[in-house]
Amino acid sequence: MPTISDSAIVLKRLDFSETSQIVVLFTREHGKIRAICKGVKRGTKTRFAVGIDLLDVGRVVLSSRHERSSSLANLTEWKQLRSLTGLREKIFRLYAAEYAAEITAQLTEDWDPHAELFEALLNTLIDLSDASEPLRLTTRCQLALLRSIGSMPRFDSCVLCGRSEDLTFFSSLEGGLICRHCEPGQVEKREVSRATIAVVRGDASNAPFLGAFGVLNYHIAHLMGKEPLLASKLVSPEKRRVVD
Ligand SMILES: [Zn+2]
Repeated sequence: MPTISDSAIVLKRLDFSETSQIVVLFTREHGKIRAICKGVKRGTKTRFAVGIDLLDVGRVVLSSRHERSSSLANLTEWKQLRSLTGLREKIFRLYAAEYAAEITAQLTEDWDPHAELFEALLNTLIDLSDASEPLRLTTRCQLALLRSIGSMPRFDSCVLCGRSEDLTFFSSLEGGLICRHCEPGQVEKREVSRATIAVVRGDASNAPFLGAFGVLNYHIAHLMGKEPLLASKLVSPEKRRVVD
């Protein structure tokens, strides 16, 4: 049975039985791997005296029937590398981190390595753990994910006619911005402001990030086939000021 040793971020954690957990890990060298860890929750006789938590970052040893197997890998060792306790000090940091984990879990394939995305996600979690700008960091992470999975929309010109002025809408199906001349013929679309376009292009660092988060989330929801669960928590109207 092949054994794998890798760095990993816990994207998802489910209690499986009294003593076991199922975790979805995002590993640096092997991509997303679903694994079972037995004997997690019971006291000191086990290897995992304290359970493995969502968003933990650690060094894992996994055994799998064979690489790329669709069955669950066995998590045989876990050593925590970083303690990102700051993530849990402010609720929006946690929401932003959970959102980043959720979209990564949804939009990457099992055993499909994305080392650069691993680094981006890790840096997002580290920065979020002492940052006051969760939405800016979330936007950065959305862009890194879209780039990494090859679904980055086109933000430089109209995807339909190539015009670079009068860009007023975004279409997920068309994969980018649409100008006001082409917009009337487009059913699936969302309005975008100039400020939002500047942020998604990386041209603005101090703009409000709500619009950029919104349009990237719209595209991500389209790719996922559903709205990310955490999205509404990051943009709830009464919290908007705090988040932004
Ligand atoms: Zn156009």
